[in-house]
Amino acid sequence: MRERFLRIGIMGGTFDPVHLGHLVTAERARSEFSLEQVLFLPSGISPHKTTKRVSEAEHRYMMTLLATLSNPHFEVSRIDIDRTGISYTIDSLRILKEHYGPNVELFFITGADAIFEIMNWKDSNQYLEIAHFIAASRPGFSLEELPSDTREWVARHQERFHLLRVPAMAISSTDIRERVQQGDSIRYMVPELVDHYIRRHDLYLK
Ligand code: NAP
Repeated sequence: MRERFLRIGIMGGTFDPVHLGHLVTAERARSEFSLEQVLFLPSGISPHKTTKRVSEAEHRYMMTLLATLSNPHFEVSRIDIDRTGISYTIDSLRILKEHYGPNVELFFITGADAIFEIMNWKDSNQYLEIAHFIAASRPGFSLEELPSDTREWVARHQERFHLLRVPAMAISSTDIRERVQQGDSIRYMVPELVDHYIRRHDLYLK
């Protein structure tokens, strides 16, 4: 009898703040790739954001927790935010692979741009040995937009690299932060509890 692998999605992101685009992405990925569970992984200090201002990890963690509470298939992990130093995705994936054991297949889900940055070409095989990658992109995004070497790379790794087009990806954390700063409404762009949390903690006002 063929051994059955459990499929777990790992939803990596800064989540500053988490919004409906992220939730729809996670749910679409869960259903299209038959994932048992999606583990949200708010990032610690991202390699490409060491000089950018990012909200405190505890706020991002709490908002992610509030946003995912009602979905029994969603969970939130602290492994990145509790780790000191820069959190490289490869380290997080190794920790999770060890934690879940050999009978689990991991699917790392994040924005398409971030995935192309993570791969950084020279180490890409190591990543792909540990996990599948699901690149979430806005509708209308086409691989034709990518440079030819990236397209060739994608073609060579079709078995482990997947593109997921998500309509709600038009919502972005940057836009939400700007709206809050300008006193504009973000209702229906984030779950209600996240909206309350942002107001209560005066996030994104300056
Ligand atoms: P980012 O550069 O802030 O985001 C790039 C794009 O992807 C944005 O449009 C962003 O939208 C979107 N996005 C981010 N997370 C998403 C998700 N889970 N689902 C759908 N779209 C998403 O990316 P980031 O949030 O800092 O990083 C994404 C993940 O990649 C994190 O887990 C991070 O640790 C990892 N990463 C690792 C390395 C590395 O190890 N070398 C390098 C870069 C990133 P929003 O702004 O609306 O979220």
